[in-house]
Amino acid sequence: MIIQPKTRGFICTTAHPEGCARQIQEQIDFVKAQKKLTGPVNVLVIGASTGYGLASRITAAFGAGANTIGVFFDKAAEGARTASAGWYNSAAFEQAAAQQGLKSHSIVGDAFSDAIKTKTIDLIKAEYGTVDLVVYSVASPRRTHPVTGETFSSVIKPVGTAYTNKTMNFHTGEVSTVTIEPATEDEVRQTIAVMGGEDWGMWIDQLQEAGVLADGATTVAYSYIGPKITHPIYRDGTIGQAKNDLEQTAIALNEKLNAKGGRAFVSVNKALVTQSSSAIPVVPLYISALYKVMKEKELHENCIQQMYRLFSDHLYNGGEAAADGSHLIRIDDWEMREDVQIEVMRRWSELETGNVPELADLEGYREDFFHLFGFQTEGVDYEADTDPAVEIPNQV
Ligand code: NAD
Repeated sequence: MIIQPKTRGFICTTAHPEGCARQIQEQIDFVKAQKKLTGPVNVLVIGASTGYGLASRITAAFGAGANTIGVFFDKAAEGARTASAGWYNSAAFEQAAAQQGLKSHSIVGDAFSDAIKTKTIDLIKAEYGTVDLVVYSVASPRRTHPVTGETFSSVIKPVGTAYTNKTMNFHTGEVSTVTIEPATEDEVRQTIAVMGGEDWGMWIDQLQEAGVLADGATTVAYSYIGPKITHPIYRDGTIGQAKNDLEQTAIALNEKLNAKGGRAFVSVNKALVTQSSSAIPVVPLYISALYKVMKEKELHENCIQQMYRLFSDHLYNGGEAAADGSHLIRIDDWEMREDVQIEVMRRWSELETGNVPELADLEGYREDFFHLFGFQTEGVDYEADTDPAVEIPNQV
């Protein structure tokens, strides 16, 4: 079939297998061109098919020669429906890993469930013995609790008072004002249940109890802080409450793992276009302005560059993980640099529909958005008949 993008708001319901494969190859090429990493050896990435989790898996595999297990929730193609981008990404990853002689397996299913945790533990026992790095990079709108059976939904809302600011439709470039009403207490509770640290803690506990976590193992999950203008919708909002919980979990896990020389961190990453971040009001306009400023200052990084820097400067190669023994690693340092933020805020106050192309990087935002689904990728013939049915090698 001919596969073209079909967008509905911030969602694209189609993905292109060849385009996704080329995006993966670009990330692999970037990592292979960098200095080799001194670790890890056996890696479990939970949420491994897109965004930061995928970039973590690629960095570990092609930067350190690590064996990797990827857990993710993606759909295969069915009839006239293409697979999801994460499916094609993982198929391309598995192929490239095999060509490189790297051991890897992919597990498709709900990471929040006990069944997938057990399946992963069984795979580690059978094929890897132990894992020495666990990356937790799940971003999900829902979670069913494995013990109570309650299904929680996460919302992106301010807490306490309504929030009004500029937002942008990145398809049209139209800037408008949006007001978001505050979350109810129950919405805060549910968002923490989905995006907080409970599931990360459950993974580490179960891996440890099963004896498949290596002594001295590292675990890392991802968070965001960002500038004051987005705090009401992000850091002080429902998602920020969940991130506070995630960060508290890092402290608790660090204490547990320390006994055997292990460590737990939260890495605070830069704002980037991913399927998750494009769903947050206000943030796409902020990211567009940020991209423009960071590109002008030659400070711009994408997911793979951020993850390589996390591994090379903080987690491995003798890097200092976090300042002053903190559980937080700050690779959002370039985004948060004073000169960057002053310039973004200056532009923010002036931004309106007519000056978006001049003050912000709308083209860069859109390009990154379409790249997420394998579109607008050089060298791909989007008019060619393409088979959407792609197998993921080494899927268990
Ligand atoms: P993403 O949407 O690109 O990736 C999410 C991953 O989670 C995918 O692999 C998906 O398959 C997987 N997933 C979702 N539900 C799952 C389930 N039930 N079981 C198994 N896998 C599941 O998201 P992202 O932006 O890379 O976010 C990853 C982490 O990074 C999040 O914690 C996010 O808050 C954080 N972060 C993102 C940004 C940003 O700007 N995008 C910045 C800083 C931190």
